[in-house]
Amino acid sequence: NRRFLLVRRPQGTPEESDFALEASDIPVPPPGGLVIRNRFASLDPAQRGWMDDAESYMPPIPLGDPVRATTVGIVHASDNPDFAVGQWVMGLNALEDYSVAMPGGFTMAIDPDAVASPSNYLSALGAVGLTGYFGLLEVAKPRAGETLLVSGAAGAVGSAVGQIGKIKGCRVVGIAGGPAKCRRLLEDYGFDAAIDYKGKDHEALVAAIAEAAPDGVNMVFENVGGPVMEAEMFNLAHHARIVLCGLISEYNAPEKVGLRNLWQVLARRATIHGFLIADYAERFAEGGAQMAQWLAEGKLRMDEDVQEGLENAYPAFMRLFTGANTGKLVLKIS
Ligand code: NDP
Repeated sequence: NRRFLLVRRPQGTPEESDFALEASDIPVPPPGGLVIRNRFASLDPAQRGWMDDAESYMPPIPLGDPVRATTVGIVHASDNPDFAVGQWVMGLNALEDYSVAMPGGFTMAIDPDAVASPSNYLSALGAVGLTGYFGLLEVAKPRAGETLLVSGAAGAVGSAVGQIGKIKGCRVVGIAGGPAKCRRLLEDYGFDAAIDYKGKDHEALVAAIAEAAPDGVNMVFENVGGPVMEAEMFNLAHHARIVLCGLISEYNAPEKVGLRNLWQVLARRATIHGFLIADYAERFAEGGAQMAQWLAEGKLRMDEDVQEGLENAYPAFMRLFTGANTGKLVLKIS
């Protein structure tokens, strides 16, 4: 049983020596529990936050423990009548070959025959796709004809948000890094306009957003923070709604700088709403059913960037921060 352990808290950008791959015995199920053979693990920006010893919505990963991750896999051994050996499940586990799970936590059965790949339960049908779904529909509450601005737009959450915005009749503007990603926004995800933030200073970014959204932005779906968000603030329509979903530009920063142009929120009477997908856990079946229908109808596309092997967990994880990932980043464990 190989396990990808956190052995030192990263200072800024994670280094390979912050982690260690160790082998141990395959666990046996505790009373009432089960052992899962992990097949795919989700690599998420949130894991970077869980590596810090900081107050958050979840406790930090203890040093010496495997890195916490959502996984899909097959029940390897069970002491629970609700979970049979061989059954597919997903849950909040860790980057390891075998995980011990106690039902009553997040473990739930999944149907691999209903999807193209079981990894889809980590992308379109998982927390990431549903972040786009509930974050946009329940928090921003889009109305047809409104302008939606999405940062981190070519990523897993961002691409879902933009496409759902189009389904709801919005004008959708995306911000992403590099010409290739901007092309994908227009050609693969149907955005109305795409802005490459790389190589643009504050004035150029403010101007590019103004050109793409001449009447201002009614909704911002924020995945990035930092200079990108600071430029967005100068393009808010009055009473704009800002869904604060993520701030990836800050996750590796030793000092969290915060937003410099907050006064624009006041000037434009805007609202910033913090969003956490965990608050919608009881509605996953409902959101998943709608996402599955849009996928089947060809209205929604979710790309996956599948990297291979637990031994590659570190370079795979770092793709999130260099922007190398093309779609939902997934690690194939076996
Ligand atoms: P993505 O697939 O979007 O991958 C991360 C992307 O972030 C990279 O590809 C890169 O794209 C961009 N990025 C990295 N560093 C920077 C930077 N310094 N400045 C600007 N962009 C950067 O990941 P996810 O879709 O999984 O996550 C997107 C966001 O959503 C994250 O902030 C995450 O924390 C958040 N999230 C929040 C949830 C919630 O419940 N609140 C749930 C799930 C995700 P590029 O090449 O365009 O720079």
